[in-house]
Amino acid sequence: MSYLVDENGYYGDFGGAYVPEILHKCVEDLQGCYLKIIESEDFQKEFRALLKDYAGRPSPLYPAARLSEKYGARIFLKREDLNHTGAHKINNTLGQILIARRMGKTRIIAETGAGQHGVATATVCALMDMKCVVYMGAEDVRRQHMNVEKMKMLGAEVVPVESGNKTLKDATNEAIRDWCRHPEDTYYIIGSTVGPHPYPDMVARLQSVISEEIKWQLEEKVGRDYPDYIIACVGGGSNAAGSIYHYIDDRRVKVVLAEAGGLGIESGKTAATIALGRTGIIHGAKTYVIQNEDGQIEEPYSISAGLDYPGIGPMHANLAKAKRAKVIPVNDDEAVAAGYELTRMEGIIPAMESAHALGVLPKMHFKPEDIVVVTVSGRGDKDMETYLGYYNR
Ligand SMILES: *Cc1c(COP(=O)(O)O)cnc(C)c1O
Repeated sequence: MSYLVDENGYYGDFGGAYVPEILHKCVEDLQGCYLKIIESEDFQKEFRALLKDYAGRPSPLYPAARLSEKYGARIFLKREDLNHTGAHKINNTLGQILIARRMGKTRIIAETGAGQHGVATATVCALMDMKCVVYMGAEDVRRQHMNVEKMKMLGAEVVPVESGNKTLKDATNEAIRDWCRHPEDTYYIIGSTVGPHPYPDMVARLQSVISEEIKWQLEEKVGRDYPDYIIACVGGGSNAAGSIYHYIDDRRVKVVLAEAGGLGIESGKTAATIALGRTGIIHGAKTYVIQNEDGQIEEPYSISAGLDYPGIGPMHANLAKAKRAKVIPVNDDEAVAAGYELTRMEGIIPAMESAHALGVLPKMHFKPEDIVVVTVSGRGDKDMETYLGYYNR
């Protein structure tokens, strides 16, 4: 049995493609061609060259000496924060725009919450000279001024969405509506391992370069190609999926995922989907969703914009249900403390999302010989005001 996707687009009970009638053809076209494209020599050659020369891969696997000493294990940091645009998201957007071009699409749309995926999409559209429309909740447009300006500077059109709570969920609905109106020429770049099949599997494959590198980097550094633990944060799940992809069916490797506890899972202000979610449909996939008794999706909360999502990718829902992954909620205060700790001990300011992965370390009991890889999904420049504001409220 494998934890990878099955031929029907499911991970155990989760996944599938629950889309409006008018999108069936778009989704089926993509299902029919994504593997052929990704596995083609021509795609691989172009994708690999861009990952190397444009995104700056391979990203280092850094042995963190001081953290290792403090937590009593051999801790390595997978430095996705050093990629162009400051996070792992560029791996996915580069891959998907190459797929879009091979499908003959001329117009790109995307949804964005905090704006990180919007910026990564606008970046590759500038690179490939393609038209780019990004849907963003009006509330997020107001909160994330700098990312909106970046997207515009890169040549994208940013459409503020005024419906609902004016945040990510509403932006996603609007992007899907756009796709329904322009199914012929438009390709929808989804930013995480979420959405209807084949998106979760496609995004996981595009991000799998992370664990592909971890394998040879560990072989080089410790003489074996697998760690005892891999730790990553989960919003939709793409940096985690990439970090574990090549180890997913290898039980020697324990998988630990950090979800955003917010103010605490009992507080009502949280994004801890595994702790609180029940099975439902979100963004075209069956997965765990934070919802009320009537099945209405509830507005999530986290200090970290990238983890502030009321669902979770179907791959991770299945890993959690099957107990292949241990999912630990990390609260705002624990993440902020972990972010400061990494900064002071290793000279690396992590993204607030990545700080949640680091916030798992104090909750673990390692053996001295354990080899632990923590994925630092992004850099903290975008979160400076949040870090500074936290202790000065
Ligand atoms: C978007 C983002 C995340 C969360 O997305 P995943 O798909 O769960 O990886 C995590 N870290 C950073 C730095 C991000 O920008």
